[in-house]
Amino acid sequence: MAITHTLGFPRIGHDRELKKALEAYWQGSLDEAGLRQVGRELRAAHWQVQRDAGIDLLPVGDFAWYDQVLNHSLLFGVIPERFRPAGGQPGLDTLFSMARGATKSCCGGGVQAQEMTKWFDTNYHYLVPEFTADQQFRLSWEQLFEEVDEARALGHEVKPVLIGPLTYLWLGKAKGEAFDKLELLERLLPLYGEVLQRLAGQGVAWVQIDEPILVLDLPQDWKSAFERAYNLLQREPLKKLVATYFGGLEDNLGLAANLPVDGLHIDLVRAPEQYPTILDRLPAYKVLSLGVVNGRNVWRCDLEPVLTLLQEAHQRLGERLWVAPSCSLLHSPVDLEREDQLDGELKSWLAFAVQKCREVALLAKGVNEPEHPVVQAALTESRAVQASRAASPRIHKPQVRDRLAAIKPRHSQRHSPFAERSALQRARLQLPLFPTTTIGSFPQTPAIRLARQAYKQGKLSLTDYTEAMHAEIRHAVAVQEQLGLDVLVHGEAERNDMVEYFAEQLDGYAFTRFGWVQSYGSRCVKPAVIYGDLSRPAPMTVEWIRYAQQQTAKVMKGMLTGPVTMLMWSFPREDVSREIQARQLALAIRDEVCDLEAAGIRIVQIDEAAFREGLPLRRTAWKAYLEWAVDAFRLCASGVRDETQIHTHMCYSEFNDVIEAIAAMDADVITIETSRSQMELLEAFRDFHYPNDIGPGVYDIHSPRVPDTAEMIQLLQQAVKRIPAERLWVNPDCGLKTRAWPETEAALINMVAAARQLRGQF
Ligand code: GLN
Ligand code: ZN
Repeated sequence: MAITHTLGFPRIGHDRELKKALEAYWQGSLDEAGLRQVGRELRAAHWQVQRDAGIDLLPVGDFAWYDQVLNHSLLFGVIPERFRPAGGQPGLDTLFSMARGATKSCCGGGVQAQEMTKWFDTNYHYLVPEFTADQQFRLSWEQLFEEVDEARALGHEVKPVLIGPLTYLWLGKAKGEAFDKLELLERLLPLYGEVLQRLAGQGVAWVQIDEPILVLDLPQDWKSAFERAYNLLQREPLKKLVATYFGGLEDNLGLAANLPVDGLHIDLVRAPEQYPTILDRLPAYKVLSLGVVNGRNVWRCDLEPVLTLLQEAHQRLGERLWVAPSCSLLHSPVDLEREDQLDGELKSWLAFAVQKCREVALLAKGVNEPEHPVVQAALTESRAVQASRAASPRIHKPQVRDRLAAIKPRHSQRHSPFAERSALQRARLQLPLFPTTTIGSFPQTPAIRLARQAYKQGKLSLTDYTEAMHAEIRHAVAVQEQLGLDVLVHGEAERNDMVEYFAEQLDGYAFTRFGWVQSYGSRCVKPAVIYGDLSRPAPMTVEWIRYAQQQTAKVMKGMLTGPVTMLMWSFPREDVSREIQARQLALAIRDEVCDLEAAGIRIVQIDEAAFREGLPLRRTAWKAYLEWAVDAFRLCASGVRDETQIHTHMCYSEFNDVIEAIAAMDADVITIETSRSQMELLEAFRDFHYPNDIGPGVYDIHSPRVPDTAEMIQLLQQAVKRIPAERLWVNPDCGLKTRAWPETEAALINMVAAARQLRGQF
């Protein structure tokens, strides 16, 4: 019998109950008992829905009040000094202050939250553990054990989920005096021993230990540490399944296959090629869990080929075969049944977490009882779904395909090199030295959101809505003129989100009502779904930008989201490559850029906030990604005349390893986030002899603090040491949509003053 399990289930609830409860608790309208009750109900519901779907071994430990990595920091007592409660055990409020920071009532000062960063290549963010050289570990959190009891009391057979010792250390950050995190392993391992013993004492038979870093390029000392660590844990009485996901094991395959544990989980969705090798390399006593249903996307599984593979694996492995989603279902929306506004055809192509559990169960049934009518019926249905998608004219658009096929390398090439373009642009734009601009959005006030909502609900007419947005544009333009900014923007009042706004206007995108996925803590995102060939039926931004330009004699910058960012923040198709989807998006955006130019717009910015995020986990795959990602950008940007200036914007502060690709994008101007790094990251641009213009952010928009002029001048002087003055722009780190107007104006007054003062010095 092939056994079914999941690596984790979404914890937010199908109505985002956890989000609502957390926010109520933080606001003080729900007490701790109430919050805990919501948690208990959600866990019970999630175990039940998985069991009803046919999952044999249910995960415990996948629930978290905020984040599963943070759970482990509490479990092991990795609680930085600043959060430690005065005498006594950490409580829920300790957890939330680690996650969100806290105000210390005693002394007025704030306690800064732990840093947050992306969980591998997903859009989930975890809280980065902070380790010190003298780090001590101590079991400090009972949640896991309590939840195991809770599940067992409900009659479930459970498999607790732990983040493995090496992955946990890898994810953390060394604080204070420099030291090697790996040195902490010896101290940490006894804690894993204790946890395993306690779980065994609770009657648990199997535990899942996640070591996703096995799909990364690991330094040799980390590789060696795996054997050491698991040799020690081998003594513990439980059976251990080491889980890997988000990629292939590649050079770590032998290592992973031979760890002294009882089972291994691999991701066959992201790395199907590792399957035959792993079968040959896996010791004969071990369970092999095959992750065959994509835990990270919304598409229904094509059952037939997967079942064939599983049946073959079953012949080799027999009882030792387990069937699972590729990774935790944390990354997929909860329940497709809730979608009452998707058309039937599209809905029949999709599967969310609940449906994915059913797929896993069905596949196992197909292995155990291949002739069962339920299996046969499901296969027939699956075949029909695949056939309908393969033939659907909603998906396959010959015009889009033909256009893409006709694209030549010259379409990704501006007419003249930067030096020539730049001279033409300077002559046309007549900007001063250190030109000032902003990144695009201005404060999204409650009034703006209300107007948008009312319009979407049909309560505000198109005319009234347009007038409301025009008023916002007039206001933004007036403010910018008064501030004395050189290149203006329209302010993006009409945009809910930089991806969704464009997705809604493109053919080939669909939207769910409840397709929420946790991003961090109580924050959820609802990515749009790319289901078909992408095209732009009509101009998307031209009327707004044209209107904005009519309000001013200054240069108005058009504002678009780039193809890579559109792709990275959506659920992509699985039937065509990411590259093709990016190229289709690029052509749609290219048309928009050209239409803006035709409408008299002289500068167009194409934001690529997610460019770096798209980097594959393995270095060997970077080159291919960067090639198509850069080309997609160039394809957007190269339809215009030399004198039209193309900007791009990227908000992160790590460019060293991708600087060559950034230069290859050949944007006339790039604005980046730099204020917090004291302009140091400009060194990457200097060392590479980056030739085009750069706008290093001179203030951090993430905080309401208003920096003074001197501070920004000091930063700009740092910048001038690295980049010639005539190629520098002056702008904030990112868009201002999360800020309020008073601090926005105050900061921009100082920014313009800084640029003016500096001009006097050159
Ligand atoms: N133009 C967008 C804005 O100003 C850019 C946002 C981003 O880079 N994340 O909001
Ligand atoms: Zn940004």
